[in-house]
Amino acid sequence: MNTLTVSVVTPDGPVLEDSFEMVSCKAESGELGIMPGHIPLVAPLAISAVRLKGNKSSEMIAVSGGFVEVRSDKVTILAQSAETPSDIDPERARKAKERAERRKNSKQDDVDLVRAELALKRALNRLDLIEKS
Ligand code: ATP
Repeated sequence: MNTLTVSVVTPDGPVLEDSFEMVSCKAESGELGIMPGHIPLVAPLAISAVRLKGNKSSEMIAVSGGFVEVRSDKVTILAQSAETPSDIDPERARKAKERAERRKNSKQDDVDLVRAELALKRALNRLDLIEKS
């Protein structure tokens, strides 16, 4: 059976490269399910979990946005950060969540509010992934 070659890459280097049967991810336009034979595609990703399903093992990865590219059964996830559940430091994510909530609730300009909302999304995404793993 055909598989997808999946690479997850960040500015710090590759996070994972392996074969899987299906990739589920959340593009900004909605959920994407990618299987072998998928049409070529580039799409921006939401701050979300990417699920990689293989016949022996599955993986979940928290990504802070970025892009998914699909071409000839090769899927590349390019993100500013990408962590498997074991990479995530729960205490750091909890502190980031509290910090972002404090910033959101304090009086500040719009730019800082957007930054705080994005930081909160990243922290909640990491905590959610640990819970699901
Ligand atoms: P923090 O405020 O804790 O730095 P952040 O959401 O601002 O969180 P990012 O800018 O998304 O952090 O990521 C910076 C780097 O730190 C990336 O390499 C990312 O993988 C890593 N990182 C961020 N939070 C965690 C965490 N809770 N556990 C492990 N690595 C993390």
